[in-house]
Amino acid sequence: MNVITTVAEMVAARDRLPRLLGLVPTMGYLHEGHMTLVRQARADCRSVVASIFVNPTQFGPHEDFASYPRDMERDLAMLRNEGVDVVFAPTVEEMYPPGFSTYVNVERITEALEGARRPGHFRGVATIVTKLFTIVRPDKSYFGQKDGQQVAVIKRMTADLALGTEIVVAPTLREPDGLAMSSRNVYLTPAERAAAPMLYRALCRAREMYRGGVRDAKALRDEMMRMISAEPLARVEYISVADAETLQEATTVERPVMVSLAVRFGRATLIDNIIIGGME
Ligand code: AMP
Repeated sequence: MNVITTVAEMVAARDRLPRLLGLVPTMGYLHEGHMTLVRQARADCRSVVASIFVNPTQFGPHEDFASYPRDMERDLAMLRNEGVDVVFAPTVEEMYPPGFSTYVNVERITEALEGARRPGHFRGVATIVTKLFTIVRPDKSYFGQKDGQQVAVIKRMTADLALGTEIVVAPTLREPDGLAMSSRNVYLTPAERAAAPMLYRALCRAREMYRGGVRDAKALRDEMMRMISAEPLARVEYISVADAETLQEATTVERPVMVSLAVRFGRATLIDNIIIGGME
């Protein structure tokens, strides 16, 4: 496994890698959720590049950029174990050299949900993902449904700018009790960790109601709010039932919708989502 830290070396290496080439972008501190993306890429492609880069421009000024968990040695061991060909792990200076002033701004679908809660977040995501696509030029790029709005934004951007990579979406990997795996779960205290699976229970309850014939989006939101409000450690940031493609809030569930939520537990804001209303 080749570990590359400069853009110039990555560009040179990319030209030598046999196609199909798959890219798995990450911020490191890897867990089994990341590994499902890597394994999918390994199964689909002849070459796999994984990137590890904690991207400062997608963090707000009061967010956890400096304290975001990092463990490069462990990450490299996990990626080597899965047969990854190249790890691209640039420094911040390498990706944002002095004078850097070009950003990618995806309109409309970035305004609600995580975009409203984290101003500038998707500008940072869209910019770094575009830059990674430009450097690596992958045939296929792998993202997790865990970050559902991110998937919608990256699909929109890739189509709009003809970035020439296929976006492959992997299902959310969960702990046995239903909590979506996340690098930020390490922030949870034992009491918060014990309460956190209620997020997925609330999402499943919405799905059950849908299967039971409920089509009113507000009824689904209200029920999830009722469940989560009962937990004193949880503070709801948003609960949403929105069109899966445009992310406009839905009034009824007649097409696929993303049921999503962001809930704060102490230091950590956890996000999760499921898609309902499609072919199930
Ligand atoms: P991150 O390192 O948090 O930026 O995540 C890198 C990629 O892994 C993103 O495409 C995430 O959506 C994906 N990912 C994170 N957690 C999970 C999970 N529990 N299941 C599946 N994919 C995930």
